Amino acid sequence: MDKINVDHMLAIEEPFMKAPLEQLKRSLRQSQKLVERETQQVNSAISSMVNNHDNLSAAEVNKTLGELVERLQTLKRKLEEAKQEETQLIRRSKQRATDLNELSTFTSTTQPEFQRWCRTRMDRILIDYMLRNGNVETAERLIENSHLEHFADTSLFALVMSTERELREENSCRSALQWCVENRSALRKIQSTLEFELRLQEFIEMIRERKTPDAIAYAKKHLAAWSDTEMPRFQRAMTLLAFSPSTNCPPYKNMFDMSRWDHLAHQFRMVIFQLFDLPAQPLLHLLLQTGLSALKTPACVSADPTEHNRNCPVCHTETLGKLAKDLPLSHHVNSNLVCRITGDKMNEDNPPMRLPNGFVYSLNSLTDMAAKNDGKVKCPRSGQVFSFSDAKKLFIS
Ligand SMILES: [Zn+2]
Repeated sequence: MDKINVDHMLAIEEPFMKAPLEQLKRSLRQSQKLVERETQQVNSAISSMVNNHDNLSAAEVNKTLGELVERLQTLKRKLEEAKQEETQLIRRSKQRATDLNELSTFTSTTQPEFQRWCRTRMDRILIDYMLRNGNVETAERLIENSHLEHFADTSLFALVMSTERELREENSCRSALQWCVENRSALRKIQSTLEFELRLQEFIEMIRERKTPDAIAYAKKHLAAWSDTEMPRFQRAMTLLAFSPSTNCPPYKNMFDMSRWDHLAHQFRMVIFQLFDLPAQPLLHLLLQTGLSALKTPACVSADPTEHNRNCPVCHTETLGKLAKDLPLSHHVNSNLVCRITGDKMNEDNPPMRLPNGFVYSLNSLTDMAAKNDGKVKCPRSGQVFSFSDAKKLFIS
């Protein structure tokens, strides 16, 4: 019973390993592209200088060479910065691998080392949850106290949060678009239309401000390129030029709606999570749902609140019940009798008692009630009052 199922535990840890590796892959690819672009430009500048050397003065050659040196120095600085980031990501991956590898050394769930490992895991799951929800300060406090710097994807979530804020609050696509341009080939691979949506939003804002010539120029430059895959939407965007922001015509009214900014922020988050192999839901939710699905019974989802059990987390419709909303009902081989009043289990020590009106409650709940009401008990469902002595003990067979 106390044996550890390493495979099951590792199955949910995939994002923990993949997140830094995906960031590393992306960083390396960007550095490679940067080197290719810069060396190509430097080489072509040198070739044109060589081919043209008869017409160039020494001062001109000197000036161009100076510019090229400066360019290469900038490249060097950028690569050094990237290297620093990559070293950190490699270190992060190694530490995470070591942590997961430790699992294979444990022999029992009661081992103190295993319990410590689980506590650390709980901390990092909470950190992930808080970073996703923007509770950055609390997350940072926990990271610092538990020394979990390498287990938290702080910079990735910081990028998500700041870009979302820019979209939602400042109604600006600047950072989101810059990110799209930097990750264009990866976005193309997952067939994401995020960049199109952002460009479309910039176009809509120009129409809102009545900058029609600018909007047309913008559409030619940035939207026309998407006409292969997004033709109907491209056509609708162009038709929008004929409408004013106060239009009541449904598709165009929706395009002017400011709630599009919220959709963009959400879409940005989903795309970046997809790219870095992070689940859309926090791991905390997934783990809680596993537990909740084992508890969910038909009574939990009953519209009649008196059917709910106060000790059952699924019955709390405003808190954990929300997470359990879409989960299937659990399969119970043995049924348990639970007291409606206290939420306690009814068994030999706390037997079920039947009131004259047919409703059943636990002995402990009725004893408590009778002690406070001169031996009288009130049925919470019918409101009828009986004498405690009229309650009959039932036997569970
Ligand atoms: Zn319940």
